[in-house]
Amino acid sequence: MKHASQTSILEVLHARGYRITAPRRAIVEALLKAPSPFTIQDVVAQVTGADQVSVYRLCKVLQEEKIIETVASIGEALYEFKSEHHHHVICEGCGITAHVPCESIDTQKAQKASAFSKITHHEVILYGLCNSCA
Ligand SMILES: [Zn+2]
Ligand SMILES: [Zn+2]
Ligand SMILES: [Zn+2]
Repeated sequence: MKHASQTSILEVLHARGYRITAPRRAIVEALLKAPSPFTIQDVVAQVTGADQVSVYRLCKVLQEEKIIETVASIGEALYEFKSEHHHHVICEGCGITAHVPCESIDTQKAQKASAFSKITHHEVILYGLCNSCA
């Protein structure tokens, strides 16, 4: 999947009827520079004068447009730009996250156990302790 750019995000917002104001532009810029995954707070901290509600609304739109997705909720929601399927390990001490590749999930086994006719996708979150917290 093509990585989202500032232009493509602004185009999406424009198509949804949002006016491209200077503050929105600044929020989008901060989103693109944010760590991955990021919280609303991470973005708010990067933009002078941005309030939590505007950042939250913008993230909600980008989520609806499948540009970003929610990774996990540990008190605050963690978001990241949609990319190749992978998982996250979250430190129980400080909340820092790391990306980990997907180990094979036995979909057939899950289908049998649940008696569902189809398994469409999965989410896995791993928890642990990072080097500083261990
Ligand atoms: Zn930690
Ligand atoms: Zn990730
Ligand atoms: Zn997976």
